Amino acid sequence: MAQPAPIADAPDPTAAELIAARPHLTMHAHDGLMLEGVALNRIAAVVGTPAWVYGAGTMRARLAQLQAALAGQDAHVHYAVKANDHLAVLRLMAQGGAGADVVSEGELRRARAAGIAAADIVFSGVGKSAREIRLAIAEDIAQINIESPEELELVSAVAASLGRTMRVVLRINPDVDAGTHAKITTGKADNKFGIAHGDAPAVYARAAALPGVEPVGLALHIGSQILSMAPYRAAYARTADLVHALRDAGHTVDRVDCGGGLGIGYGDEPGASVEAFAGALRASFSNLGVRLMVEPGRWLVGPAGLLLAETLITKGTPATRRFVVLDAAMNDLMRPAMYDAYHGIVPLDPADATGPVEIADIVGPICETGDSFARDRALPCLAPGARVAILDAGAYGAVMSSTYNARPLLPIVMVDGDRWAVVRDRQLHEDLWAGERIPDFFPS
Ligand SMILES: *Cc1c(COP(=O)(O)O)cnc(C)c1O
Repeated sequence: MAQPAPIADAPDPTAAELIAARPHLTMHAHDGLMLEGVALNRIAAVVGTPAWVYGAGTMRARLAQLQAALAGQDAHVHYAVKANDHLAVLRLMAQGGAGADVVSEGELRRARAAGIAAADIVFSGVGKSAREIRLAIAEDIAQINIESPEELELVSAVAASLGRTMRVVLRINPDVDAGTHAKITTGKADNKFGIAHGDAPAVYARAAALPGVEPVGLALHIGSQILSMAPYRAAYARTADLVHALRDAGHTVDRVDCGGGLGIGYGDEPGASVEAFAGALRASFSNLGVRLMVEPGRWLVGPAGLLLAETLITKGTPATRRFVVLDAAMNDLMRPAMYDAYHGIVPLDPADATGPVEIADIVGPICETGDSFARDRALPCLAPGARVAILDAGAYGAVMSSTYNARPLLPIVMVDGDRWAVVRDRQLHEDLWAGERIPDFFPS
């Protein structure tokens, strides 16, 4: 069980404890739960529920904290767009001085549309199409991260056919266990990612010999929601050894893309320390004279996002099993169903937040048993109509939503201090089938 759920049998953190661990949240005696300077009840009253709410000030502060920890090293933040790809989030990252790590044509186009300079974009991913590679070369992005010898040949061929030379780094699979959930572990030898550590010298030599590509360094990314620095230290030490070996073989190695994966506290425990992370980078790379890139997604935006929901109905009794059915569901926030992820849940109303506690399952209305946000959760009693915030939903939340059960995608609200704006409208039902056609040859 690698997700940072509280230890079995330990009591769930209370609403007050969850709020106390999150400086961007406060419980106002009259207005209820606030994100930065805005009462979430006010947002819910205007845009309805379910709805996503992001805190711009919180995202900015986290980026600044990471950059401050990295100060003094030649280390640059490339925000992993897949965690939350909203244009306003990308704009905020660009304004804060971050570049982007993208994994698809769509993410590359989003990053450019939001104003991120091509020179600040790196392209990762285990399967890139020739079309995506052509776009990356046409845009002249910072680098393509190569995940296999086969992909190296493809990028070389595409670039050469365009008469161009593309900077590439080789993503090495360091074969360390990040100690996280199996579905988000990416740096073990039997994961699909990267080039085997032992094959790196031969593939690097091949890259140096091929037309159309210029190998400039290495990349690695060992997994997500990593809370301990030990796997980073092990992977970075192996990577630094490889830099020495490649240089000894006469190659130029200017950059190391150190990946992302920094974890956050989903309960009331602290997340990964960016200061300790910066220390791990320094320990392995400080005397190598390489430009470092880091690619966090979750750590920058996860805590800054909430999913607002309203209780539709409650059923059952605590003696058997008590269910609180929300209007939000697994199609909106997939993480509990997909990764057994723990998310704190806090009532918006101060009276609800301090009321008597009961043990309940917090579920959505979809016809799947997996449509559950929390099992056996100690929560204040919630009556129909009571609103809650599902916490830490800013990363891998809206980006993973589907329209299962013909449920439209949710609106998104951006809070910034005491201001707020709707930054995506609730999808209309008609839009769900707007691109669909019934064949002419069907009887009408
Ligand atoms: C997903 C991913 C990231 C970001 O991971 P987080 O856990 O959100 O920090 C960074 N780099 C690569 C290559 C990724 O695939």
